[in-house]
Amino acid sequence: MANEVRSGGCVCGEVRYTTPDNPLRVTVCHCLWCQRRTGTAFGTEAVFAEHDVVFTGEKPARYRHHSDESGRWLDVEFCGRCGTNLGFTLEAVPGVRTVAAGTFDDPGWLDGVAVPLRHVYARSRRHWGDITADVEVFDQHFRR
Ligand SMILES: [Zn+2]
Ligand SMILES: [Zn+2]
Repeated sequence: MANEVRSGGCVCGEVRYTTPDNPLRVTVCHCLWCQRRTGTAFGTEAVFAEHDVVFTGEKPARYRHHSDESGRWLDVEFCGRCGTNLGFTLEAVPGVRTVAAGTFDDPGWLDGVAVPLRHVYARSRRHWGDITADVEVFDQHFRR
């Protein structure tokens, strides 16, 4: 497994990337910004050294956001054709790039990586993302 190259990309396939095996860390971010930019309960970011992520297809489109709290920029990256969220770079932590964990060709590989996994901004965590004892759970869709 060591030094295995991992690949991923957007839904339509125009933006492709490779990363080394393993990320520096995986961060699940429950902040309001991540909720809005992903349209769901949290962002899940595999964090790599910026130069270790190599785009092999179209370059991703970018949008510069300034944090309401710090005023610092975050450049979100996404496919300009299909809109898939691909991750971001940020002024606060130079030299790293996040890769949206669900965009790997095999997102399951992150299940077993021995790197720090952290949940941050839990103050705005949405409980509708939790699988608790009192919710209905199906291995596939309930319509099946
Ligand atoms: Zn795309
Ligand atoms: Zn966030």
